[in-house]
Amino acid sequence: MTDPAQILPDDPLREEVAHFAEANDLARRARRLDEQPEFPWAEFKAMGAAGWLGLTVPSGEGGRGLSLQRAGVVLQELAYRAGTAFAKLCLQPEFSSILRVHGSDRLRAHYSEPLLRGLVLVGNHITEAGAGSDLSGIRTTARRSDDSIVLSGIKTQVAFAADAQAAIVYARTEGGAHGLSAFLVPQDLAGIHREVIGDLGERWMRRGTVRYDEVRVPLENQVGDSGRALEYLKTELTHERALLGAIYLGVARASWEETVREVGKRQVFGGPLSDQEAVSFPLVEDATRLSSAWLYVYHVLGCLDRGERADDTAAMGKWWATEVALTAIDHAIQFHGGRGYSKDLPHEQRWRDVRSGLLAHGTAEVMHRVAAARRWPRPRGGDSARPTTPS
Ligand SMILES: Cc1cc2nc3c(=O)[nH]c(=O)nc-3n(C[C@H](O)[C@H](O)[C@H](O)COP(=O)(O)OP(=O)(O)OC[C@H]3O[C@@H](n4cnc5c(N)ncnc54)[C@H](O)[C@@H]3O)c2cc1C
Repeated sequence: MTDPAQILPDDPLREEVAHFAEANDLARRARRLDEQPEFPWAEFKAMGAAGWLGLTVPSGEGGRGLSLQRAGVVLQELAYRAGTAFAKLCLQPEFSSILRVHGSDRLRAHYSEPLLRGLVLVGNHITEAGAGSDLSGIRTTARRSDDSIVLSGIKTQVAFAADAQAAIVYARTEGGAHGLSAFLVPQDLAGIHREVIGDLGERWMRRGTVRYDEVRVPLENQVGDSGRALEYLKTELTHERALLGAIYLGVARASWEETVREVGKRQVFGGPLSDQEAVSFPLVEDATRLSSAWLYVYHVLGCLDRGERADDTAAMGKWWATEVALTAIDHAIQFHGGRGYSKDLPHEQRWRDVRSGLLAHGTAEVMHRVAAARRWPRPRGGDSARPTTPS
């Protein structure tokens, strides 16, 4: 049997991450964030100061300049140490990379650079009621008025609804399925109303609904060209999806290792629980699935590092890593008995947090759609030409 840890590359950054997580008490903080949801500003700043934000952002632009594969190793390790929260924080600059790549010098100086230092949080406002998977339904409009853009519409289910100081808002500037443009919108402008919704997991993100009521945004806050926002987002999402797979596998590795220790100690029917094949067989299966899913995700990250197209495999990597991780964490809950279901142990929170992987950044079904569309392309103008979250 391959222990999922043995298959990870022996990278010195893993030790650095472990040290940082320990020194900042991140595991305990992650548990508290579930009980008392808030944005962890102190840790975010500490991560910025230590250079953990913007793992793949080029070093000349203030990031770590890691390959996607090495970034995946860092995220696996951090998620193993402290769950999804801080690993996802590491990715905030990647989640707004369209700003860094296509934004003006002024926007980059005001938002992208402070974001790398953990001083500013930038959200992504894409989803609307009825327009999550099928983005052709986006109804938020951006209308030109003198030297401003006037935004009107309602974004929903967005992360950091309560805490982001700015958001990249995707709005319709033209008709047709693809006529979307992106705007950097400070969240303290007149006409913005924010409301938090309660969530199953990852509660610290304080997702919610943001209403834009005739909000005037300076024209220079447009990010990139008109009508090209989905094209920009597509590249960003492909990278994100592959990296998210690494996070979910790291979280599940922690649950798997803790369960292996537990079943070796726990005595039932005159021997350790691990003597029972009903328990040991699922755990060896989990080790196999976690290891092979990691190899798959690592392979996808390598393809992306080499500039190869991998939208389909990145999509399936996120889906498969999440499925495999959820199964392993579910077994951890089960084989710890009643305590596994309780808040005494971290498994129930891990399961709730990782569960978002089948919804956020494209649902499981949309991930299949992305992969199928590559395998069996349909003519433009057909159903597959409709923009999904976004494929
Ligand atoms: C933790 C979390 C964080 C999020 N953060 C953000 C954020 O920061 N910004 C943001 O804009 N959004 C965010 N979202 C929203 C997320 O992107 C959407 O929930 C997601 O894209 C699905 O859209 P929807 O909720 O409208 O569901 P729908 O699109 O209505 O889907 C409902 C169901 O139908 C299925 N379905 C849809 N189309 C097809 C198809 N063609 N074939 C088969 N099944 C299909 C879906 O897979 C799903 O199961 C977040 C969501 C979560 C859970």
